[in-house]
Amino acid sequence: MTLRNICVYCGSNPGRNPIYVEQARALACALVERRIGLVFGGAHVGVMGVIADTVLDAGGMVTGVIPQSLVDKEVAHMGLTELVITDSMHERKMIMAERSDGFIALPGGIGTLEELFEVWTWAQLGFHRKPCGILNVAGYYDGLARFLDHAVAESFVKTPHREMLFVETDPTVLLDCYEQYTPPNVEKWLSRAEM
Ligand code: AMP
Repeated sequence: MTLRNICVYCGSNPGRNPIYVEQARALACALVERRIGLVFGGAHVGVMGVIADTVLDAGGMVTGVIPQSLVDKEVAHMGLTELVITDSMHERKMIMAERSDGFIALPGGIGTLEELFEVWTWAQLGFHRKPCGILNVAGYYDGLARFLDHAVAESFVKTPHREMLFVETDPTVLLDCYEQYTPPNVEKWLSRAEM
């Protein structure tokens, strides 16, 4: 599929290990090389600020989507290609999703996890057909990947739905997966015959 814009969810903190910020820069460069625009949460703080600045410095396009409440806290990045200001977090996430052709989570905290799981849930339900994945920097998401395999083993998640979430360590490999992506056609629930 053609990727015009990718939404990146990531920490509003930089994290302890400098590799998190380094790999955010690597993803930013990979996006610009492929002429893919960045959609993100619109803040200048943490990994978010680094990925936005790197895309802009390399000549790429960045759309930030941020609620007025966070603009009021003065965390908005005021140098973006476009800054969309919303009334609520829900509206923000909806616009980020609508404007993007795929979703990537870099290392981050509660906000990053919540945003990733929301778009993956929508994918599982067939509300959109866009790829979702994780850039697993320095094993940050190893524990989560193990837990998701446990959820499959315990029959709360179907294998094709688990496989919808790409987990890669190299930004270019992740983007290659997205360009070739075809979503599975799998029902979320067991049929009566399967129960
Ligand atoms: P976290 O992973 O908890 O640091 O949250 C980062 C994610 O949640 C980003 O992808 C943002 O969309 C959103 N978010 C959380 N905190 C902020 C903030 N201070 N400014 C802007 N966005 C934030």
